[in-house]
Amino acid sequence: MSLPVSAPPSPRPLRCAVNAMASGDAATRMQQLTDWLQYFDELHIHGFYVDRGNAQGRAAAPASIQMNPVPRLEERNLASESPATTSQMPKPKSPLPVSRAAFSAPVAKVNVMPVAHGPSLFEAFERVPNDTLERIREDIGDCTRCRLCERRNKIVFGAGSAEAELVFVGEGPGHDEDIQGLPFVGRAGKLLTDMIVAMGLTRETVYIANVVKCRPPENRVPERDEVATCAPFLLRQLEVIHPKVIVCLGNVAAQNLLGTNKSISSFRGQWFDFRGSKLLATYHPAYLLRNPAAKGDVWTDLKKVMVELGLPIPRSSPKR
Ligand code: URA
Repeated sequence: MSLPVSAPPSPRPLRCAVNAMASGDAATRMQQLTDWLQYFDELHIHGFYVDRGNAQGRAAAPASIQMNPVPRLEERNLASESPATTSQMPKPKSPLPVSRAAFSAPVAKVNVMPVAHGPSLFEAFERVPNDTLERIREDIGDCTRCRLCERRNKIVFGAGSAEAELVFVGEGPGHDEDIQGLPFVGRAGKLLTDMIVAMGLTRETVYIANVVKCRPPENRVPERDEVATCAPFLLRQLEVIHPKVIVCLGNVAAQNLLGTNKSISSFRGQWFDFRGSKLLATYHPAYLLRNPAAKGDVWTDLKKVMVELGLPIPRSSPKR
């Protein structure tokens, strides 16, 4: 049986590549080294490093939307967010070096976050000068860029304040959102609204968006090309709002924004840098509807967000 192996990171022989590394800047050298180690890993050639996990994690740090195959969270594959695994959650060994100076709260990394193959959507993203949410909505138009247009009723662009300090990113519209054209208005949305209110905020003062703007049929996982097609619009929204904090709700948002295929249960509640905003992932409200015991974990995560935003923490937990 032959396993697929990526192309070597550079057509150069390794010795030349190592010489080239010696002349690049530190970040480029680290990236090149990581690419080569990834390549050798796939060839099952190991043992270059005793401290391999750390080296790889550091090189994989930049946050980006990448097209990883992700398990669908909502109402089907909830096992992947099982809070049972959170008690075994590995503690981050060291913060991301680039982010440490920029933020007051500790910034953690996902241990051994896989290095993505191919260009990330983040790299492909081009800034639009003087961009606004209105302009982004206009650019989306009556979108037919991907197959999700075929069965959608309404595009769910996002809702809330363009000046929001806090943005929630979900997976994609469900049935109710597709009918109303608004994010998180079904049962899971009601729970999200309760969470927002428990934080002392309102839906109008935060911003709520999704990884894809059209409902995937039968609420299936948005596919790679669908995420790729929609991602530039979400990135533009995040760029325009430039919130202090982004909260990813569930695996799909977290994995796509962070460019990992690790389960959210292994990194929820940790801080990451996402293009100058702080990003934290927590469980999706739809998951909480089926697993109310995980609400405590989510409240713990949201309290971290409140501290970051300077919001008072209520003495008692919200009613469940
Ligand atoms: N689930 C999501 O991820 N987004 C919505 O807008 C509604 C439900």
